Amino acid sequence: MIKLCCNGCGSDLQVGDDVRFLTCNYCHSKLEVVRDVTATHTRVLEKLERATDRIAGNLKVIELQNDLERVDREWEARRQSLLVRGQNGGLYEPSAIGSVIGSLAAILGGIVLALFLSNNTVGYFPLFGLLFSCIGFMNLVSGLSKSSAFRDGRSRHRQQREQLIGEIERERRR
Ligand SMILES: [Zn+2]
Repeated sequence: MIKLCCNGCGSDLQVGDDVRFLTCNYCHSKLEVVRDVTATHTRVLEKLERATDRIAGNLKVIELQNDLERVDREWEARRQSLLVRGQNGGLYEPSAIGSVIGSLAAILGGIVLALFLSNNTVGYFPLFGLLFSCIGFMNLVSGLSKSSAFRDGRSRHRQQREQLIGEIERERRR
């Protein structure tokens, strides 16, 4: 047995006399035992695989975190584009029930107006009431499609988020 020093990390190693190659128990470097005329020493053959694995892992984590930020940013932009303006001027997330309530008033109001105008006037005036109803109905359709786009977008965003966070945690645990 001879005493040697790991060229990778400096740990003391005990090596059999005829050993030429070994792996350091501490830093896992692959070492070659070099027997010179003056002294026997070790030479690192392979760079520390674990360290490079770790660096690759860190890069992967950074990449995933960038993906997460991008996904959040994209959803926020989409969210802003889908917000609806309420009657007091504020912006709200579109909801199916909200658009039904909002549009129903216009649809019913238009019908009542049409009936009222057809009883009290002649000519095309009752059509204004129906026009009002039509606008209400179109609002309802666009409101419902907006709210479903909003719901889909939000759940897709959550899914992507959870998946990325899961991947980041897995990568960190390695
Ligand atoms: Zn070592």
